[in-house]
Amino acid sequence: MQRFQDRVAVITGAAGGIGRATALRLSEEGATVIAVDLDEEGGGSVAEATGGAFIRADVTDEAAVEALFARVRGEYGSVDAAFNNAGISPPDDDSILTTSLDTWRRVQEVNLTSVYLCCKYALPHMRAQGKGAIVNTASFVATMGAATSQVSYTASKGGVLALSRELGVQFAREGIRVNALSPGPVDTPLLRELFAKDPERAARRLVHVPLGRFAEATEIAAAVAFLASDDASFVTASNFLVDGGISGAYVTPI
Ligand code: NAD
Repeated sequence: MQRFQDRVAVITGAAGGIGRATALRLSEEGATVIAVDLDEEGGGSVAEATGGAFIRADVTDEAAVEALFARVRGEYGSVDAAFNNAGISPPDDDSILTTSLDTWRRVQEVNLTSVYLCCKYALPHMRAQGKGAIVNTASFVATMGAATSQVSYTASKGGVLALSRELGVQFAREGIRVNALSPGPVDTPLLRELFAKDPERAARRLVHVPLGRFAEATEIAAAVAFLASDDASFVTASNFLVDGGISGAYVTPI
């Protein structure tokens, strides 16, 4: 499939697990991928693997985000897809009873304000082109409650979901689609290490997943590729859950 032939895709958090897998997937399908991250080594390695470019930018910095999208349009001719995916999940974001205001604010900045900024500065280019697809990374915790709280993270992802829905509706008739992608837990090195050390913690979570395992980053990338492509031409303002069935489950198979 070459669904992204002659298209330019900007991916934030491209050095991370989901971002990297998506950069590889979109470039395999013909996209020119602009990888954006704070991590120069990881971002550079993604650019090498995709044959695209790496731009170091902090997605919480308004001037940097505005300049990023202007540069991409100026140098590569268009901004066809924006995958606003950078995010953090720090250990000090925990129960509301113990999470400090500083931690709350930092997580809101990186996870939610960044998505506001990336949409704000990608949209004018897409409006000028009369087309574009935005995919914002939320999470299944925007839809489900967890007693293992990460309170600011969850609230930030709820914000990403509501923001995406609103933009999807507002810009629908201008040829621009905006969707929230809500992954379930993904098998990243961090998660594996955490749960290898503590099998009970892993079991507590896995029992809720009908498919009985965590997602591979490539499975999330496949969903982004669909949402950002013309195959999803009638999909906008959606909460696209790729969660192994978690959000639909009451009792799971043994
Ligand atoms: P990751 O930590 O592997 O990647 C995140 C990337 O974002 C990192 O490369 C980091 O350097 C970058 N980043 C952080 N702050 C930044 C900033 N201010 N500016 C630019 N780049 C910045 O995480 P991941 O697992 O690939 O997650 C990607 C997205 O998916 C996140 O939004 C995360 O919340 C979401 N998500 C992950 C899971 C999961 O289980 N891994 C589940 C649901 C949702």
